[in-house]
Amino acid sequence: MASRANDGVLLGCALFCAAALLCSDVSVGAAPGQSSNSVRASDHAIASDARLAGDARQTRFVLDLDKAIQFRAFALADPYRVVVDIPEVRFQLAAGTGTVGRGLIKAFRYGLVMPGGSRIVFDLAGPAKIAQSYVLEAANGQPPRLVIELEEVDRSAFIQTLAAEARPELMAAVADAGGAVATPGMATPKLVAAADSRPVVVIDPGHGGADNGTQSSGESEKNLVLGFALALRDRLEKKGKYRVVMTRSDDTFIPLAERVRIARNQSASLFVSIHADALPREEGDAQGATIYTLSDHASDNEAERLAEAENKADAIGGVNLTEEPSDVADILIDLAQRETRTFSNRFARMLMAEMKTSVRMHKHPLKSAGFKVLKAPDVPSVLIELGYVSNKGDLEHLVSEDWRSRTVGSIAQAIDAFFAKRLATAGAAN
Ligand code: ZN
Repeated sequence: MASRANDGVLLGCALFCAAALLCSDVSVGAAPGQSSNSVRASDHAIASDARLAGDARQTRFVLDLDKAIQFRAFALADPYRVVVDIPEVRFQLAAGTGTVGRGLIKAFRYGLVMPGGSRIVFDLAGPAKIAQSYVLEAANGQPPRLVIELEEVDRSAFIQTLAAEARPELMAAVADAGGAVATPGMATPKLVAAADSRPVVVIDPGHGGADNGTQSSGESEKNLVLGFALALRDRLEKKGKYRVVMTRSDDTFIPLAERVRIARNQSASLFVSIHADALPREEGDAQGATIYTLSDHASDNEAERLAEAENKADAIGGVNLTEEPSDVADILIDLAQRETRTFSNRFARMLMAEMKTSVRMHKHPLKSAGFKVLKAPDVPSVLIELGYVSNKGDLEHLVSEDWRSRTVGSIAQAIDAFFAKRLATAGAAN
């Protein structure tokens, strides 16, 4: 095969094959006398649904297939994982499948790891053993299913089961190489360069570079929101459930359209823009956090004023609007898909529910207006104004480590809730 020229793939194959030799029941799904690579795509099994059941003592994973397959499952420590190697399977699972765990399983990833071979990796909440694993033939109107049953054990029992594996360090190398799994349908599988199938969350700290945003008492919005966004990134990355992409991670000017483009190019599942507003003196002393979604009619005058102010960022940063690429400049708000709006609004409500438990909110905390940065037609997007730098109390919060940590925690909780709900909705539709 041509890709043998690629050292990474060759090394990957060598590791995989060596690991395979350790366990005699491995098959990569080829018919006798046939190399796995020559199996036509149409011969690959199709996985149509995956689900979890059980609790923190016993958890079962079920994968619906269109035909029975062979498999091999093993556990790994530090972090605790269970890896299931299967022949190449076409995963036709709902977006977000595996991002939300249950019982012993925190989350799972799946995809192609080499020509002819797919893998499912379960991230465990703690040590667990594979109590049973089997493939059921189609019966009683049910499709063929792969079933993995996990049982809670203590660490010493877990380590003993690992000792039964001949070369755990080799297994770990294989699993690590497969840790980043391929996107379903990827044409050129590369063990080491495979894509990450976790949902992408884009965090967008407003302003940057020449565009300072609002300023008060020597604090620039661009710096406040960058610090906050980086803390949110760290919190989300710790969970391991999402791939987090920043529109900027330093003091750089990024045009609004570019921020939208980043979200779209990354096929983001969620876009969260972070700002901190200020009110002109004559407009009183509003306070608290506000969550904005996109709409063609501003929900009130303040929302309209704010959207205008935020949309001026490009002018401040020296972007010539007439040179904006048409794919973004031409996007009319009307084109935003209804589903995207629904998800944006749902996330905004979840954010409010989480944030109001720990953060002072504006008296009308959910608003909408024509923010350019929220205009990706296919990415649920919200803009959070953390507070008013023009308000003394809010400014004190904005620069407080404790306040930031609490607020970051609430937003991360809302993101978890959002993806849990999306998965549940997708599951119910099947
Ligand atoms: Zn701003």
